[in-house]
Amino acid sequence: MHVSEYPAIQHIHPDNEVVTVRLKRRDGELKAYCSDCDTEFVYRKPKASSIQHYKSPLLPGVKGNFDSGDDH
Ligand SMILES: [Zn+2]
Repeated sequence: MHVSEYPAIQHIHPDNEVVTVRLKRRDGELKAYCSDCDTEFVYRKPKASSIQHYKSPLLPGVKGNFDSGDDH
């Protein structure tokens, strides 16, 4: 039986060191705690398409704005 492979979370410390912490099941949730930076991570299962992905409404105008401002 193979039960210990929970997702691991990588995060970056202020000194640019990448630290991996492994999630453990606690209180019905998967959590990981990094004592070095005193941060707790909670893993949330991705839900199947309950969130729609919108195209950014900001992007289409960006190029035009730059072009129109470059006239001198
Ligand atoms: Zn950390």
